[in-house]
Amino acid sequence: MTSARLITIANQKGGVGKTTSAVNLAAALAADGRKVLVVDLDPQGNASTAVGAQHTSGTDSSYEVLLGDRTAEQAMQPSPDNPNLFCIPATIDLAGAEIEMVSLVRREFRLYDALHNGFLESHGFDYVFIDCPPSLGLLTINAMTCAEEVLIPIQCEYYALEGVGQLLGNIGMIREHLNQQLHISGILLTMFDARTKLAEQVANEVRSQFGAVVLGNVIPRSIRVSEAPGFGKTVVAYDPSSTGAMAYVAAARELDLRGDYVPHPSTGAIGVSPEIYAELEG
Ligand code: ATP
Ligand code: MG
Repeated sequence: MTSARLITIANQKGGVGKTTSAVNLAAALAADGRKVLVVDLDPQGNASTAVGAQHTSGTDSSYEVLLGDRTAEQAMQPSPDNPNLFCIPATIDLAGAEIEMVSLVRREFRLYDALHNGFLESHGFDYVFIDCPPSLGLLTINAMTCAEEVLIPIQCEYYALEGVGQLLGNIGMIREHLNQQLHISGILLTMFDARTKLAEQVANEVRSQFGAVVLGNVIPRSIRVSEAPGFGKTVVAYDPSSTGAMAYVAAARELDLRGDYVPHPSTGAIGVSPEIYAELEG
């Protein structure tokens, strides 16, 4: 058993801040001295870009690891910005993996098998963040069988909870059939714009539905956050004194301090009461 916390960042809704949250929570914990691995499971490769990892087509990456052609060790790269931060990058080659994996043995456990073989212990990783694509396919399933914790970023905008019911349903199914330990350990409110009433309303609604699993720290909308990837950096490395970077540092420390979120009996492992769960699932 590894002592690392493995956290899958998932939400099949696009552009909600999955990648930004994965790389900045990772960078913040690495800056605090934790040893952190980011696994990029999105063919877009945005997480790889943000931590400064090479990810042109043909580079050893999560694609080769999932197919069993390379080990995690071979595909891992150090981040140029922090000696505690590492990345298994994603290249565009990963776009074919959803289909190519279908015929492989243990297709839902390819990532699990590649990481839980002594590799994490040998490096002494404290945290592994897995960045998922905006879909609920085999790549996201591989992330959810590999980790025990799921962190869901929710954008403080219209339709914030759209699709969340379906995501909870999937987590429930994976718990039932593939990974009994899987549970929601955090919900992170992202792109919060304090000038709008809407952001406040969305935040309140999410807190009333999900309760204590929602992190107290909220990530504000900030230009610096969106600029950073253009420099191949996380905002934590690019502009540590910006509001966005400080919010990610605070959220990372909260995640670290409170440890794994122990599901409350009234809300269960999915983090919402059965009534609200039924309502969200529609
Ligand atoms: P996808 O579903 O495509 O993988 P995602 O959920 O990973 O998207 P991100 O790529 O992290 O979302 O963010 C979407 C866009 O919003 C990006 O351009 C990102 O730079 C920007 N963004 C994320 N968080 C913030 C923020 N706090 N302030 C401003 N811009 C942000
Ligand atoms: Mg992304």
